[in-house]
Amino acid sequence: MSNYAEEINKRRTFAIISHPDAGKTTLTEKFLLYGGAINLAGSVKGKATARHAVSDWMEIEKERGISVTSSVLQFEYDGYCINILDTPGHQDFSEDTYRTLMAADSAVMVIDASKGVEAQTRKLFKVCVMRKIPIFTFINKMDRDAGDMFELLDEIERELGIATCPINWPIGSGKNFKGVYDRGEKNVVMYADTQKGTKEGEITVIPIEKEDELSKYIGGDLKGQFLEEVELLDGASAQFDLEVVQAGELTPVFFGSALTNFGVEIFLQYFLKMTTTPLPRKADIGLIHPVENDFSAFVFKIQANMNKAHRDRIAFMRICSGKYEASMEVKHIQGGKIMRLSQPQQIMASERKILDEAYAGDIIGVFDPGIFSIGDTLCMPKEQFQYEGIPTFAPEHFARVRQMDTMKRKQFVKGITQIAQEGAIQIFQEFNTGMEEIIVGVVGVLQFEVLKYRLEKEYNVEIRLENLPYEYIRWVENKDIDMVKLTGTSDMKKVKDMKGNPLLLFINQWSIGMTLDRNEGLILSEFGRD
Ligand code: GDP
Repeated sequence: MSNYAEEINKRRTFAIISHPDAGKTTLTEKFLLYGGAINLAGSVKGKATARHAVSDWMEIEKERGISVTSSVLQFEYDGYCINILDTPGHQDFSEDTYRTLMAADSAVMVIDASKGVEAQTRKLFKVCVMRKIPIFTFINKMDRDAGDMFELLDEIERELGIATCPINWPIGSGKNFKGVYDRGEKNVVMYADTQKGTKEGEITVIPIEKEDELSKYIGGDLKGQFLEEVELLDGASAQFDLEVVQAGELTPVFFGSALTNFGVEIFLQYFLKMTTTPLPRKADIGLIHPVENDFSAFVFKIQANMNKAHRDRIAFMRICSGKYEASMEVKHIQGGKIMRLSQPQQIMASERKILDEAYAGDIIGVFDPGIFSIGDTLCMPKEQFQYEGIPTFAPEHFARVRQMDTMKRKQFVKGITQIAQEGAIQIFQEFNTGMEEIIVGVVGVLQFEVLKYRLEKEYNVEIRLENLPYEYIRWVENKDIDMVKLTGTSDMKKVKDMKGNPLLLFINQWSIGMTLDRNEGLILSEFGRD
């Protein structure tokens, strides 16, 4: 195999999804630890200082000590080259969080053992399912008292609609969390709680049939319960089938504690074996293969104003095939131009690194003089194809925009349109009016502030936002629908997007159901496509 194919095949590009506080950051830190990227865990988030010291983020970010940007972490482990895509959560949850998943080949879902499936996990999970990418589950915080793990698996299956297959099983929880049982190897892997946070914690491996040995470590009751659970598990759980996993229909489940570093490496090792090399991606001419095709990439995110002084934007692209080399000429399909990418770099959590080369599976950020849009394709000059567009994700917060100074109408329309094109917000109009009534929809509420701030600073336009009570938006999929005749609930609102596509805004899910009932044949969608 050529060095080129080898480079691509050793890449694993994935995102970690979770509800805030489930332990995504802690798990990422532990992964980095194994990769030797840092000596001691504790430097990924470094909230206010470390991260912002090296780059000039937006003032909003600095004030809040949060990051609106997602970045990528790259490190090597056991012959693999790992790209972890950061999916912003908390208040900075936005459409970018969803778009990042469009660039991943698989996802790790971190669940807090005592909390189960939470809201944000549910939302992100839906996007993974839409893409049919493999999802791996890490049940975290086993060092805290947790309930019945069978019930938790039931909850995952019921709430998320995916079959589960435990690859290992926890022995106890809370103070009694001893380790995990590796079902494939039939080994009990026990951890000593000596060196928290380092990778050198002592590990003891005992084959399960050596009951006497086990008794030395696990007390009578706990051992009995554990052996019973293992038996139950063998009878009840879904069979492991890698193909089903890779089709996104079965999730392998692992247990552990990211904080105390129990079960993390065993998870990483299995995960890397089971997850995929960079996946082929759909384009208008068919599937583009990562190794067999020359360089190609698509833009999944545009970050404005990383450095206010230069007003620059950075376009993040996922390389889908081939190899990228510095100063190489590429074709920007949507712009119809041959060009050189300017200063391609890897945006890491704490640094930017200028790159000489990158391969399928990698994410690069390039300076964007304002020519790229989300979803754009780049390929070799001789090629002509286009990757499937990135869907528009349903905003969940809506506000009416009032412009304070009506004399500045032009700047206002220009500003809000440009910001919408970057994908930070979505704008809608009342169904029967023009640009005079604008409704803004966002995925995360912070985007409202970003909009207000940017209109003021960059376009010199002041606005007021009036919150609207809608929480659900649905694209009307029927091609020739008469929107005037469509009847819904009294609190439903008919709007259109910038391209004139009809949409409906709802206050609750009940109204969506009522509207579907009242209009036979109506098809509503949660994702918008061009
Ligand atoms: P994120 O918001 O998902 O990135 O979560 P963090 O990794 O920042 O973790 C949230 C909190 O949970 C922090 O206080 C962590 O120290 C704690 N935490 C993370 N993993 C574990 C774990 O395995 N056990 C316990 N007890 N706490 C954990």
